[in-house]
Amino acid sequence: MTERTLDTAASSSCGCKVGRITTQYDLNGLDDELVSYWTDRTDERYSTRDLATHVNQRVLEAALDEAGLQYKDGEVENTYRLLTGDDVSSGTRVQTRKELERDSIPVEEVESDFVSHQTVYNHLTDCLETTLESPSDEERLERSRDKLGALRNRTAAVTEDTVAQLERSDVLDIGEFNVLVNVTVTCEDCKQQYTIRDLLDQGGCDCE
Ligand SMILES: [Zn+2]
Ligand SMILES: [Zn+2]
Repeated sequence: MTERTLDTAASSSCGCKVGRITTQYDLNGLDDELVSYWTDRTDERYSTRDLATHVNQRVLEAALDEAGLQYKDGEVENTYRLLTGDDVSSGTRVQTRKELERDSIPVEEVESDFVSHQTVYNHLTDCLETTLESPSDEERLERSRDKLGALRNRTAAVTEDTVAQLERSDVLDIGEFNVLVNVTVTCEDCKQQYTIRDLLDQGGCDCE
C-alpha cells in the first residue's frame, strides 16, 4: 500500500498514526470519542488500553465495511479478540486470519494499522492537547470541601453585608452579629443529619 499524503486530510487530522488511520478509514468522530471516554469522570472511564482497543475495533469494523461484509452485533469485538487476545490459541488466530483473508480483508495491513495504548496516549496529550486529571477519591473530597467552603464563605459574606445594610438604614435592629452558614445533608434512608463537612470527612452515612 502506498503512503498516503495528508494534505487533503480533515483540519483536525494530525501527523501521528491515530490521525493517519482516522483519515484512512474515515473514522468519523473518533477524536471526540477518545477525549470524552478518557476524561469521563465516572467509573465508565476508559484507560488508554481500552481506548486503543476501541480505536482498533473501529479500524477492523471499517475494514469489514470496506470489504462489504455483514456482521452481527458483537462480532467485530469478538473478531478483534480472536486476532489479538492473549487467551486465544495461535491455531484459532491463524484460522481467524484465514477467514478474514478469504473475505478479502487485508488482514496484515489492518493489523499493522492497529495502535498501541502509548500511541493513543501520545495522540491525546500531544495532538489533541488533552490533559487527564484523574483525582483520587481523597483529592475529589478535598476539592469538594474547598468548593463548598468557598460557597459557604460567599454566602456568609453576602448575608453579613445584607444584614449590615439593613441595619444601617434602620430597617433592622441588631447588635454585633455573626453569621454562621451551616449546610445540612439528611440521609433519607435513616433520617440522620450531617453537616456537609462531617459527611465528607466520614465518607458516607452510617447506615450505608
Ligand atoms: Zn495524533
Ligand atoms: Zn443513612
